Amino acid sequence: MTANLLNFDLEGLAAFCEGLGEKRFRATQLFRWIHQRGASDFDQMTDLARSLREKLKTRAHVAALPVISEHISADGTIKWLFDVGDGNAIEAVFIPEDDRGTLCVSSQAGCAVGCRFCSTGHQGFSRNLSTSEILAQLWFAEHSLRQRQGTSERVISNVVMMGMGEPLQNYTALLPALRVMLDDHAYGLSRRRVTVSTSGVVPFIEKLAADCPVALAVSLHAPDDALRDQLVPLNRKYPLDELLATCHRYLASAPRDFITFEYCMLDGVNDSEQQARQLVDLVLRHSNGRTGWCKFNLIPFNPFPASGLVRSPREAVQLFANVLVSAGIVTTIRKTRGDDIDAACGQLAGDVKDRTFVAQRITAQRAKPVQIPIRSGPSESPRNARRTIQ
Ligand code: SAH
Ligand code: SF4
Repeated sequence: MTANLLNFDLEGLAAFCEGLGEKRFRATQLFRWIHQRGASDFDQMTDLARSLREKLKTRAHVAALPVISEHISADGTIKWLFDVGDGNAIEAVFIPEDDRGTLCVSSQAGCAVGCRFCSTGHQGFSRNLSTSEILAQLWFAEHSLRQRQGTSERVISNVVMMGMGEPLQNYTALLPALRVMLDDHAYGLSRRRVTVSTSGVVPFIEKLAADCPVALAVSLHAPDDALRDQLVPLNRKYPLDELLATCHRYLASAPRDFITFEYCMLDGVNDSEQQARQLVDLVLRHSNGRTGWCKFNLIPFNPFPASGLVRSPREAVQLFANVLVSAGIVTTIRKTRGDDIDAACGQLAGDVKDRTFVAQRITAQRAKPVQIPIRSGPSESPRNARRTIQ
């Protein structure tokens, strides 16, 4: 087995080069070829000595993940489904906007947290992705988009760890991947433009602050522990007061002067005006009456059949936002992107029920040509009676 060089941050690659009896600085050249120029063939790397190239050919490789399918939404969002073996598939989503290009990256095949409203959570946990599997999503997306757009300029300006999985439950693989995203010899993204989204793994929020403080988004979804225990089961381990105190401490090292709280709007579950007021109290309680230390991002729930939950009506979301804004909390309502291709939050691998089914789906998708583009209107969820969580 040779080493996949996508597994290494610059420090790791330097150690690998030393192991080959080469000078550490060779790693910088190699790193640039791989990440800045998208090279995977060592013969392309003409400024490396032939002897090194020959050595690399026997000891290393640069391998992306096999692409099972690619879907392009009417709004330009692109979703790739990648095969990570043993019947597991993961997804990455590219979201183009006027002033930026964001890649939503997966960190695990499945997820062990098991949030009620998330299709990845319903799927269960298969395994952690390796650093190379996390980075392969960025490497592939960046370089295939550049090629497609006929440019050598950077296409992806932002990365959000908001795909499948809980990134802070895969910290060992995540950390080198983040370092490569930030490295000036690789993607050179600023800390403000790399966001880790977490359901609240408190000890690893603390570790991230010390090791690699990028922008932090925390998935809140409920204003009290009783409800959050049901929606985000990890809350039973790290309840709201502990989580918010940790978030507040993160600010000392954060690249931005606020934490983003994500809040998925579920009809009749967490979307009342009273719950919005409770949220305001929660935020105030943790900052001596200040509200400026956090922002809220209200996410319209993207329904999937097994959830039994319904998206909050637009008016309810607006009323909820008004309460937060009146208290001085900056609040945005997320525009849903790519939901015609099931690329919206929480819909990733949305029709996957179990691993056997994933395997069938991979085989079926392989038989089909890549589907480009699919154009249909965004799916509207039916308005049901108000829901209760069971
Ligand atoms: N595990 C991490 C990151 C991946 S989920 C986390 O939970 O933060 C990324 C975001 O998508 C989270 O805010 C999550 O709450 C949200 N999400 C999950 N399922 C969703 C759904 N069905 N509709 C809308 N947002 C959803
Ligand atoms: Fe896991 Fe995040 Fe989905 Fe919860 S919302 S199940 S933490 S991926």
